[in-house]
Amino acid sequence: MFLLLGSYVGVPFFAKKNRKNPFLYFLLSLVIGPFAFIPLLLSYKFASVAKDEFTISVSDLNKLQIKDATHSVTDARVAICPSCGAQLKKIPGAKTKCPKCKQFMFVRTDSKTMSKVVVNAKQADSIDEEWAKINGTWESLKQEKDRFTKAKSQLSKQFGTEASDSDAKWRLLVEDSLIHSAMQNWGYYRITIFQMGEQLRKEGKIMDALEKFLLVSYLDTCGPNNISTPIGKQHEYGMKPFTADPSFIAPGVIERIEKLAKKANYNKEKLETIFNNLEKKYKDSIPFSLDAQKSWSHVKKQISLP
Ligand SMILES: [Zn+2]
Repeated sequence: MFLLLGSYVGVPFFAKKNRKNPFLYFLLSLVIGPFAFIPLLLSYKFASVAKDEFTISVSDLNKLQIKDATHSVTDARVAICPSCGAQLKKIPGAKTKCPKCKQFMFVRTDSKTMSKVVVNAKQADSIDEEWAKINGTWESLKQEKDRFTKAKSQLSKQFGTEASDSDAKWRLLVEDSLIHSAMQNWGYYRITIFQMGEQLRKEGKIMDALEKFLLVSYLDTCGPNNISTPIGKQHEYGMKPFTADPSFIAPGVIERIEKLAKKANYNKEKLETIFNNLEKKYKDSIPFSLDAQKSWSHVKKQISLP
């Protein structure tokens, strides 16, 4: 349990130190728990060897990770039928039928414990599903890394000098925001704006970060939906791009707004001005379900500032 909680905190922290996207690694730690440390540790090892960490392809890392994982697999198989509990003559090495209950027994590697176990059909299915999730996560991480590398080299060409990691990250976020709004996936869009706010905050761009987090709170009260329908078109079954839910604002957003406002020496009145400007600024691109006044009346209740 502690290990699991520790990995939720430790993995993003370590990812950040390692100049990796902490949010992605947080998601990874939700899926595979402490095993999310493995890719980080591997890339850390390599970063110290190779001068440019981006020269190592993710597929190499995958191979290593799988190799590493198979090395540490422990054997927890026992000579007991997982369906009826009957004592077996020998430990099953592969798919076999139990002589007593006639149910099939399977041998699988449990992704959570990294141990080989004898399981019944239902358990085998759920283990296979877990592995599929892990592999799916790897696939999307690889795609994300490829996109990053491509953006970085394009920007470097454009600038005529080596683009920084944060330039490349920003470029991807801008791309994401355009893609999500074009497809009316406002839930994803909201996540992207949050990530933009985070990048700006870490770079010390307080006012810009503040504006992004205020926009996130505005979007939250409007209840963003992902409807995957090109902008200008109606959803096939009439799903709305926004369903107002004014009382819901993620607490992390409010906390960030308060901290940034304190740094900038802004009071609620000043925040209100920025908030109202958002409506004008995004009027043509975001179909807000609430006007800024109405939304702000809910947001301001949660902000503890003078
Ligand atoms: Zn049996």
